[in-house]
Amino acid sequence: MKYILIFLSLSACQFSTKNETPAAESRVSTETKVPADTIVPAKYDANKRLIRLTKSDADWKQVLSKTEYYVLREEGTERAFTGDLLKNHETGTYTCRGCGLPLFASDTKFNSGTGWPSFWKPINADFVAEIQDRSHGMVRTEVECARCGGHLGHVFEDGPKPTGLRYCINSVSLDFVQEQ
Ligand code: FE
Repeated sequence: MKYILIFLSLSACQFSTKNETPAAESRVSTETKVPADTIVPAKYDANKRLIRLTKSDADWKQVLSKTEYYVLREEGTERAFTGDLLKNHETGTYTCRGCGLPLFASDTKFNSGTGWPSFWKPINADFVAEIQDRSHGMVRTEVECARCGGHLGHVFEDGPKPTGLRYCINSVSLDFVQEQ
């Protein structure tokens, strides 16, 4: 019971800090879901900081499926080997399913054997925020979309050259825009 309470309190801390976004650099939006096959480029404020996207939980629930909400907003994990983008080998761009920000390029995708889409580098390091994750008795580095705060997965230091990194990402957190 004690451990359950500790876990719950840690989770609560995580969730309570997740959606905190300084108002000055945020854009509150109740827009509908980003259409499929659409890249929504980054925009920057006068101080060259990425303009973030903030929605209420209720608004996210309106534009995301239950599974998308669970993974993106509640830091869930899809079951290994079930994601629709795991075996995608087309040339194009992987975007955030929550906001359309371009996150990973197909030429950095590799087969890690883990059952989740894996990449050795993001398109732009500023688009993928890293957060220390101490859940489930492990210390890992969580990665989330820097614009909308959507949970993507984790990054590990056992990836291939040239970076040695392995971004282990849920298919549910991504969309794919094929190069024309
Ligand atoms: Fe996003």
